[in-house]
Amino acid sequence: MGFPDTRLRRLRQSAALRSLVRETRLTPESFVYPLFVCPGEGVRKPIGSMPGVFNLSVDEAVNEAREAAALGVKALLLFGLPETKDEVATGAWADDGIVQRAIRAIKREIPGLLLMGDVCLCEYMSHGHCGIVQQTAGAGNYEILNDPSLEILARTAVSQARAGIDIVAPSDMMDGRVAAIRKALDGAGFLNTPILAYAAKFASGFYGPFREAADSAPQFGDRRSYQMDPANFREALREIALDVEEGADMIMVKPALPYLDVIAAARDRFDLPLAAYQVSGEFAMIEAAARNGWIERERVILESLTSIRRAGASIILTYYAKEAAKLLG
Ligand SMILES: [Zn+2]
Repeated sequence: MGFPDTRLRRLRQSAALRSLVRETRLTPESFVYPLFVCPGEGVRKPIGSMPGVFNLSVDEAVNEAREAAALGVKALLLFGLPETKDEVATGAWADDGIVQRAIRAIKREIPGLLLMGDVCLCEYMSHGHCGIVQQTAGAGNYEILNDPSLEILARTAVSQARAGIDIVAPSDMMDGRVAAIRKALDGAGFLNTPILAYAAKFASGFYGPFREAADSAPQFGDRRSYQMDPANFREALREIALDVEEGADMIMVKPALPYLDVIAAARDRFDLPLAAYQVSGEFAMIEAAARNGWIERERVILESLTSIRRAGASIILTYYAKEAAKLLG
């Protein structure tokens, strides 16, 4: 039955009607709020390319966590900026590492908040890569070693579990890391610590501002030998399938907005809880355009989050977690 009997505008007449038939709803419970924890006390250092986002010392991270929880956000994702960096990412797995200290402090103050730990090595490596680097023949030639990196990643996950993390989230894109981490966690008695795998993580230009926030830019080369080619959709599904096979409890697509097709396909094909990361560049684009008066900021924030939810992600990692929770409240 077509026009004039069918008139889709009938259900768009009022806010109440539109709300009644709305297909996709955002709730603060689905947001995960990323925090960048740094050494010191009382530190709240603004990140130039991410207005409203800060490097926070542990005490300030606790305050930020408390605020997020009060707004209805149930989970945080922790990144660390260590005091010193080296070639074996000591800061990532040290018992008194910056993330480990933050986990203990936040758990002590706000025990009900879920804590996710980013498991990667780039922030802790002097060279800024996500794995162990080996120089190869010829000037400027190098290789990121896969298998030796797994051991450090697994050690990092176990160390975070010891500190009290609720969920570990490996983001390195080495082959076999989920299985290695699962085995290490189980071996250390952490049978019930879930793994949220950054399963399809693309080598994206949208990570630019994050590198300032996490001080993790590679000192040479780029990450294209381990993160995925943005052009590859079928390979993304293979990456996800492998992580599921290796024991991932939840899967993630990163970035979100430029990869909504991958999110939708992952939702269709896999039955695990699906997360998507609205990354720093997605955030920065909205902020920059809004500052120029070119878009309506709050409206675009909610529209972008809704599109990620509509594509099929039930968990959204976003720097807007607090603010979107406020807008939805
Ligand atoms: Zn990394």
